[in-house]
Amino acid sequence: MIGRAFLELVRLRRNQWLDTVELERIQFAKLRKLLKHAYENVPYYHRLFDSVEVKPDDIASLDDFQRIPITTKEQLQSLPIDQIVTRGANIARCLERRTSGSTGMPLTVYVTPEEKLRQTLVSLRILLENGLRFNDRLAYISDPHHFVAQNRWFQRLGFLRRSNVSVLDSPEEQIQAILKTGSNVLYGRPSTLALLAKAARASQSGRIKPRLVFTSAELLSPDRRQFLDSVFEVATCDVYGTLEFGDIAWQCERREGYHINSDSVVVELVKNGRRVRPGEVGELICTGLDTFTMPLIRYRVGDICAFATEQCSCGRGLPLLKIIEGRSDEFISLPDGKLISPLALTCVIKRVAGIGQFKVIQEVEGTLRVQIVKDETFSPDTLSQLGAKLAEISGGSLQVMIEVVDEIPRSGASKMRSIISKVTPRF
Ligand SMILES: [Zn+2]
Repeated sequence: MIGRAFLELVRLRRNQWLDTVELERIQFAKLRKLLKHAYENVPYYHRLFDSVEVKPDDIASLDDFQRIPITTKEQLQSLPIDQIVTRGANIARCLERRTSGSTGMPLTVYVTPEEKLRQTLVSLRILLENGLRFNDRLAYISDPHHFVAQNRWFQRLGFLRRSNVSVLDSPEEQIQAILKTGSNVLYGRPSTLALLAKAARASQSGRIKPRLVFTSAELLSPDRRQFLDSVFEVATCDVYGTLEFGDIAWQCERREGYHINSDSVVVELVKNGRRVRPGEVGELICTGLDTFTMPLIRYRVGDICAFATEQCSCGRGLPLLKIIEGRSDEFISLPDGKLISPLALTCVIKRVAGIGQFKVIQEVEGTLRVQIVKDETFSPDTLSQLGAKLAEISGGSLQVMIEVVDEIPRSGASKMRSIISKVTPRF
């Protein structure tokens, strides 16, 4: 297993320097294999292909691929599991990933350990290309429910070590955890790292001096990037990924755009049902080429992007994407000037049973309005538990209003936002 993983990593690192024609050849060969598999083994895709009278063999180019209708999260979410996973797949040995449900109903995605390993290697390529050394220690600041145990044999020997830091701890506690483990690489959401940077700048108890900083999972605005770069004194590397696909695109050392992992995903940008030209903006549609257990084919991610009109000056052949508008939630301000990060708030809300979707709005300082849509496990306890959790995270300093609504409309900018604040955070 480890030998194969190593060879795969070598292949991935070589792939990025191939020319466009060769990369497209690799991509299309993988796509054909996936389409054939999905048509023959996944009932939903069999029906979908039949509905437009397309057989996998009819798809001879990426242009033909557009004949397959786009699939949304809501479509998959509404179907029984046996319709969307490979017939006979052993789901019990799969890893489960659940989308947050903040921007629509949650979807559970299943991947085998082998498929997960492949995604990890794709992520590792990004880290290594941006300067990660095998003896670095990475502090991964995130939702504690997503942590994986870190006791692999190579980590015990000091290679690719990772320390998990909970986003539910205060930024000061996070700094202490980073100092204690001697982590020299930070990885987290832009908003999470901004709070850490704010605390680090004010900290008396020691400075964290990361050698590398990586952000992911939400839009990194120019302001926030500048703030992180100035506090940590390194150039932040942003990675674009989703829970469904893993890492999709990333910045190289030149920071001229995001290199698409075109050897593991097909990225299309669509406007009014048609593909856009380079430079034009469109909605992101993605196909994962390494996940056969639960294939995601022409799946609507929804972020707004454009293909770069020029190649990156680094010389890598992986095509370049510009991210225009992505998921960006906002901080909630407390009366004493402290801030709650959107991820910490999301973590708290989604652990309360009974909530299908939610939206948080801070209209004025000192208040918080939370809209929720019930799911099938809703009970009167849901409201009291949510109230108690929100009081806990805000130290009881916010006047919280909880509203149960039938649906949360998603349109315009709010499609990308489940936490909105009209109070300007103090940094
Ligand atoms: Zn580049």
